[in-house]
Amino acid sequence: MKRRFTEKCRKLHLGVRPRLFFALISLTLLSMVVLWVFQIRLLGYFYEREKFSEIEELAGTLSALVGDEAFASQVQTSAEEHGVCVCVFRIENDPADSSKKIAARVADAEGNNDCMIHHAPEEQLSRIYDKVKENGGVYDRRMEFHKDLAANDENFRVPGFHHRGTLINAIHARLLTVDGQEYLMILDTKLTPVDAVVKTLEVQFSWIMMALLIAAFLVTMLTSHMIAKPLTAITEKAKGLAKGDYTPDFSGKGYREVQELADALNYAAAEIGTTDRLQKELIANISHDLRTPLTMIKGYSEMMRDIPGENSPENVQAIIDETTRLSELVNDLMDLSKLQSGMQKITPTVFDLSATVQDTMQRYETLIHHQGYRIEFSSQSGEALVKADRTMILQVIYNLINNAVNYTGDSKCVTVTQTVHDGRVRLSVADDGDGIPPEKIPDIWDRYYRVDKVHNRSVIGTGLGLSIVKNILEAHSAAYGVESAVGVGSVFWFELPVWDEEEK
Ligand code: ADP
Repeated sequence: MKRRFTEKCRKLHLGVRPRLFFALISLTLLSMVVLWVFQIRLLGYFYEREKFSEIEELAGTLSALVGDEAFASQVQTSAEEHGVCVCVFRIENDPADSSKKIAARVADAEGNNDCMIHHAPEEQLSRIYDKVKENGGVYDRRMEFHKDLAANDENFRVPGFHHRGTLINAIHARLLTVDGQEYLMILDTKLTPVDAVVKTLEVQFSWIMMALLIAAFLVTMLTSHMIAKPLTAITEKAKGLAKGDYTPDFSGKGYREVQELADALNYAAAEIGTTDRLQKELIANISHDLRTPLTMIKGYSEMMRDIPGENSPENVQAIIDETTRLSELVNDLMDLSKLQSGMQKITPTVFDLSATVQDTMQRYETLIHHQGYRIEFSSQSGEALVKADRTMILQVIYNLINNAVNYTGDSKCVTVTQTVHDGRVRLSVADDGDGIPPEKIPDIWDRYYRVDKVHNRSVIGTGLGLSIVKNILEAHSAAYGVESAVGVGSVFWFELPVWDEEEK
C-alpha cells in the first residue's frame, strides 16, 4: 500500500511538502480514530469489565475466609473499603417447600446505598441461586433499574426497591462449599453511567483534533522547508555538472543525508572532472601519436613514388614499422575498452610462465641488437606452471617490459626476475630509470595517466599500458604493485598462484 502511495505521488510529481503533509495528517487521523475507539467508544465497556473483575477478586478473597470467626467483620471492612454490598447465605433445603433453599444470612454488609440485593425478596435470591447453579457455580449480571421500576429482566424483580433515576448495578454471585455446607455469596456494586464523561471527552477530542491538525500543518511547513532547501540548492548546482562545470563545491549544510549526497556529488564531480581532463589529454596524445606515423608513412610513400631509386627495402621497413606502431596504439585502445566493458572473457590454460617471458623477450631482439639494450631474465625456480589466460598475461609482461625499456636509464638495462614463494610465482620487471615520485604512484594505473604531461615522442606511450595491466591482473584476482624511487628506478611486479596438479 505504501508503495502504491509512493508511486501515485511520483506520478503526480508531488513534492516533499504535500507528501509530508499527507503523511502527518494520516498519522494524526489514525491516532485520533484509535484514541476515539478506545477512550470514548469502549470506555463504558472497559469500565464495567474493570468493575466486574474488582468484585470478582474481592469475592475470591472473601471466599477463602468463610467459616472463620472473623468472617463477618472481615466482610464488613472489605465492603466499606470497596463500596460494595456483600451478602452470604447458608443454603439448606426446606423439607416442607422444596423451592425454598436460602436459609440464614451468615454475613451481611452494605457498603453501597443503592444495593438491590438487600431489597431482593427471598424468592428472587432463590432465583439467583438457581442461575449460579446453572452456570456452574459463578454468575455475573449487569442490572439496569429504571425510575418506574419496570423490570427489564424477567428473572430479576425487586418490588420493594425505589430509585429516582436509572441505576445500573454489577452483581457477582458464587457458590461455596465449606466443610460440606453450601453457601451463596452475592456482591453488588454500583456502575456509574459514563455517558456524561463520554460527552465531555468528545468535546475535548474535537478540540484536540483541531489543535493536532494545525500542529501537523505547521510541522509540515517547517520540516519540508528544512528538507527541501538544501536539496534545491544541490539540484541547482548539479545542473552545472551537465553543462561541464565539474568544480566540486556542493555544500552539505542541513542534515546528514544532504551531507552524504553533497560528498557523493563532490566525489563524482572530481572524478568526472579528472576523467574528462585525462580524456582530453588522451585525445591530444592519440592525435599526436596517430598523426606522426601517418605523416611518416605518407612521406615515405610519396618519396618512393616520386624519386627513382628510393624504393629501397629500408624505406619499406620504415613504413612497416610506423604501421606497426599505429596498429599497436589502436589495439591498446580496443583491448582496454573490451576489458573495461567486460567483453573480453578470461580463458584460463595451464602454461609455463618462464617460457612466456622468454617468448616476450624475443620481440626485443632487434632492440637488443641494434640499439644496445640489455634485457636479462633470471629465474630461481626454472619452470613455473600457472593457470591463467596466456594471451592476457603475455600482454601484461609485454607492457611491463615495454615500459621498463622506455623509461630505463642510460644503462639501457632491464631485469626480469622470477621467484617462487609460498605457492606463488612472482614476476618482477626492474629498470634503473628516473623512477616515479611517490605521490604519483597511485595514479599511474589510471587510464590516460602519464607522469610526464609533456608529450615526448622519444618515449612511446599512450597512458593505457598500465591500465590494461591493472584490468587484466584484477580480472585474474592477482596481486600486483610497484616499488619505485626517484633517481634509482622502478620495479613493477605481479603474482600468480603456482598451478597445483591436485587442484584440477
Ligand atoms: P605509457 O604508455 O605512457 O607508458 P602506461 O600506462 O604504461 O602509459 O604508464 C603510465 C605512466 O606511468 C607512464 O606515462 C609513466 O609516467 C609511468 N611509468 C610506467 N612505467 C614506468 C617505469 N618503468 N619507470 C618510470 N615511470 C613509469
